[in-house]
Amino acid sequence: MDFLLDVTDLHVHFHLREGVLRAVNGVSLQVRPNQTLGVVGESGCGKSITAKAIMGLLPPKATITGGQVLLAPREPGGTPLELSSLKPNGKEMRGILGADIAMIFQEPMTSFSPVHTIGNQIVESIRLHRTATRKEARDIAIETLRLVQVPMAERRVDAYPHELSGGLRQRCMIAMALCCKPRMLVADEPTTALDVTIQAQILTLIRRLQSELQMAVMMITHDLGVIAQVADHVVVMYLGRVVEKADTPTLFAKPLHPYTLGLMASIPRLDQNEGTRLHSIRGSVPDPFFTPEGCPFHPRCDKFIAGTCDCGEPPELVDVAPNHAVACHLFSAGTTDSGSKPTTEECTEHAPA
Ligand code: SF4
Repeated sequence: MDFLLDVTDLHVHFHLREGVLRAVNGVSLQVRPNQTLGVVGESGCGKSITAKAIMGLLPPKATITGGQVLLAPREPGGTPLELSSLKPNGKEMRGILGADIAMIFQEPMTSFSPVHTIGNQIVESIRLHRTATRKEARDIAIETLRLVQVPMAERRVDAYPHELSGGLRQRCMIAMALCCKPRMLVADEPTTALDVTIQAQILTLIRRLQSELQMAVMMITHDLGVIAQVADHVVVMYLGRVVEKADTPTLFAKPLHPYTLGLMASIPRLDQNEGTRLHSIRGSVPDPFFTPEGCPFHPRCDKFIAGTCDCGEPPELVDVAPNHAVACHLFSAGTTDSGSKPTTEECTEHAPA
């Protein structure tokens, strides 16, 4: 297995009173050892649900309805662990979380328990996965707080989350994730709640720790600026689907999918003339209960082809170059049964009455 994590055709459905909500629709992605995969898209595109499905942390009404999640074996020559087949709360999955894959969340204030000290929460995590006495676990906790550059770690270990600033809390959250030296870190919008200077410090810290600890990172963000700084490979998601996949230099040099182009154009530029309106992708991510027919992005797409993009199945992800795949009719051979692009007549057949 070349990858540390290999996700193939993952589907996640929420079974709600209003009906079935298809949150993740056939996502395939791979995380390579010691590398960073960036997962980017607007809120509601299924990025966090994909990560939670990988880690067995889905909310009670959500289930994996298809696909496979494989984690590379711990020892060379071993059997890959099929995470998607493990019971989410089972012993085996609990053994993997923290020890093999750990997660840092967007807002540490809501992720830490407010009634326990930072140290006690890190110690609990260490004792769950490693054989250590309470005293040894506390020493490891202090050492890990130092690793993430928490000043006066031996005092901060006894602080409650509300006694720390946002930046320090996020460092402590990273310390808790790293205390068992996982093979992969899932970072779900780790800098969104922080101001821009602290954001830069946290990203630098994650990059440094990644190379020191030789771990892989899956960085989930809506910010292409963050992706440019940290990712080796990028997956762009829209409405629970991967719409473009490439290595980072290729994606920034030659973005192809209209959604990726829209995200790129929305980044403010220093050389922009004063008074120029910032670009935005028109409309918003549709209600997942009412996914548009055809390409899900078509109501917002500037390159929409009437009679092609608004009917049939969504375009498949196709390779357009080595390490570069796009799901868009502009770059695909078509998605109908006949293998050609849908015709206007077929669109009419599919159109709602
Ligand atoms: Fe736009 Fe059509 Fe491509 Fe969808 S398939 S992104 S609507 S051009």
